Amino acid sequence: MTTHPAALRRLYLMQVAKGLTPVVCYLVQTGDGKNILIDSGLPKGFQPPPEMGLPPISYAQDVVEQLALLNLRPEDIDILICTHFDIDHCGNHPAFARAELVVQRQHYELARSGHPRFARWSSRWDDPALHYRQLDGDSVLLPGIELIVTNGHTRGHQSVLVRLPETGPVLLTIDAVPSQNLFAPDRPKTPQDDNEELAREGARKLIAVAEREQAGLVVFGHDNAQWETLKKLPEYYS
Ligand SMILES: [Zn+2]
Repeated sequence: MTTHPAALRRLYLMQVAKGLTPVVCYLVQTGDGKNILIDSGLPKGFQPPPEMGLPPISYAQDVVEQLALLNLRPEDIDILICTHFDIDHCGNHPAFARAELVVQRQHYELARSGHPRFARWSSRWDDPALHYRQLDGDSVLLPGIELIVTNGHTRGHQSVLVRLPETGPVLLTIDAVPSQNLFAPDRPKTPQDDNEELAREGARKLIAVAEREQAGLVVFGHDNAQWETLKKLPEYYS
């Protein structure tokens, strides 16, 4: 596989909401001026249904407002990587109708089949104005950005490897490994995962990627303690 470490310029991390854990999105900027967004966070004001017994979610600036801090409008996003269609990851997809949305085919088909986990939010990810490209398996999206299929949280979930010129490879595990304590070959199932064996396989796959790539940073999907230590927009990793 050819890599072009100089092809990417910056990785921004943004917190868009906070419930039990941070809800986050990521922006990658390439050297040739492309903007690649990873997930779109919760729709502002969304609260978990009372029967879930979760604490209320507090909102900071949403993804569109945080992009505006960088003088970017939603129309400036070229590609939106959809890791999966849980509401905390796809809540603002309709704002990105000009972008190409990239999703794993098996995840898109699972959601389109009417699976109740995703059907409740279908207006967020199944808007007819959105343009999807469906991928079949691990893929090099662009030089320096690789998509890694990690089933277990849900079928066709994807994690992202970003190769930065200074920081080196950064692995965004997303919900395949939501917190550092689950970055283990015997990772147990969380209530949010749909398959324990596949979740474990996904964690093992990411551990192997981090070792092979000598990842300079592994960012977990919803890790309170780690999040405190990370640079957030307007700061960035280069
Ligand atoms: Zn999540």
